[in-house]
Amino acid sequence: MREVMYLSKPSFIEAIKRNQTNIDTIHYNNETFVSLFLNNPTLKERLIKNNSFYIKTHGCQANIRDEESIAGLLASLGLKRVEKIEEASIIVINTCSVRENANNKVYAEIGNIKRLKEKNKDLVLILCGCMVETKDTLNNLITKYPYIDIIFGTHNIDNLLNLLYLYMENNNKKRIVDVSSKEGEIVEDIPTRRNNSYSAYVNITFGCDKFCTYCIVPQTRGKERSRDKEDILKECKLLLSLGYKEIILLGQNVDSYGKDLKDKNITFASLLDSVASLPIKRVRFLTSYPSEFSDEVIDVIAKHDNIMKYIHLPVQSGSNSVLKRMARRYTKEEYLALVDRIKAKIPDVALSTDIIVGFPNESEEEFLDTLDLIKKVKYASAFTFIYSPREGTAAAKLDDKISDKEKVERFKRLTDELEKYYPLYNASFINKVEEVLVTSVSKKDKNKVSGVMFNNKIVNFNGDPSLIGKIVKVKILEDKLYSFNGEMVE
Ligand code: SF4
Repeated sequence: MREVMYLSKPSFIEAIKRNQTNIDTIHYNNETFVSLFLNNPTLKERLIKNNSFYIKTHGCQANIRDEESIAGLLASLGLKRVEKIEEASIIVINTCSVRENANNKVYAEIGNIKRLKEKNKDLVLILCGCMVETKDTLNNLITKYPYIDIIFGTHNIDNLLNLLYLYMENNNKKRIVDVSSKEGEIVEDIPTRRNNSYSAYVNITFGCDKFCTYCIVPQTRGKERSRDKEDILKECKLLLSLGYKEIILLGQNVDSYGKDLKDKNITFASLLDSVASLPIKRVRFLTSYPSEFSDEVIDVIAKHDNIMKYIHLPVQSGSNSVLKRMARRYTKEEYLALVDRIKAKIPDVALSTDIIVGFPNESEEEFLDTLDLIKKVKYASAFTFIYSPREGTAAAKLDDKISDKEKVERFKRLTDELEKYYPLYNASFINKVEEVLVTSVSKKDKNKVSGVMFNNKIVNFNGDPSLIGKIVKVKILEDKLYSFNGEMVE
């Protein structure tokens, strides 16, 4: 077994502490780390010979934004990103632990990389992201996959170049692990390589203090902490100067933004107002927490034409007793009242949600409450999941008497109910001309491109890749339930 050098190890006891009152902002200095390599002729040579990296990211937008920092750090060493894993000298698997399925995909991927490692002794395999934050999973990865070379946690991204240096400097012998569980700080100025040149995620908060009983995020990403408003605006202005069309403000719970800042006048509503006042074409935000979604935020959305009228408002369940067991801090009635307030001020809003079915011991009656909520809200879209326990969460300790068969049946009934209302929402767009931000070539037809409307609905239409990144006018012709077909008019 290869020796493992631990710089830090994860601990859920540390991860759930919330004692810090002041959050430090650290300004990352990349030159210090790059010079480690530049001053070492052997390593410099090795980087010239092995000069490519590949990143595979699983999971949520927070992970996608982390991927851009990882890419920025590796690119700062002069390495080039490649899209084929076989061509890479460094492979990074950025993991997610939100569902069992996500973990399984990662295990399969690591298994496949073994043959590449056998062919190339110098290939560096790095694992990071939420999955490695769990002690047992980390130990399992270290024991079963001796060819993983470096593992680092969500709090240790800014140490990546140092870890790579330590690994290469000891000639690939020792494996390096740096997974620290802590409340966390804010690290500014990490080099970034954006995944595209038109739509950018901008972090506004990190971590979460809600501790919903099914969710591992508060353990893996630390205390809820807000970035300085000026730093956020500086990043937005930079993106604007680079020609970005869309900014997506990102946080596990954007509505908490500002609560930990000294200036109590800074709220999510005031931040959103400031960002939308910049001459940026589109502004969006993810994710909202229903009981903290303020009327001021509704007013700001209604006021600015460039804030997309799309609100992702995770409800998780329509049953008050299930919401209580999930430790969600609102009732069905409060959620519906919020939806009414939103619809009253933003009539063309597209509401979307997350719903979990089969939370431990969810009764038929409780499930029917969720269907009833769907009937009342009439979502434009939704993300639905069958509950899967996550080690380290409170819900994972609950005994569950509901069979998998019943959960699958409920999942089907849930989807059927949601799909009843999508056509009602979609019908109002047929034959209308809408602005669409083109994001990719259509997966199904190479002669078509795909883009997103103001309400996050996808539209496919004839076009070539030169349109990617542009906002064009498209006549909406056909409702395909989860997307539209259209025709570009200008
Ligand atoms: S609000 Fe709940 S579900 Fe969302 S990240 Fe925090 S703990 Fe997880």
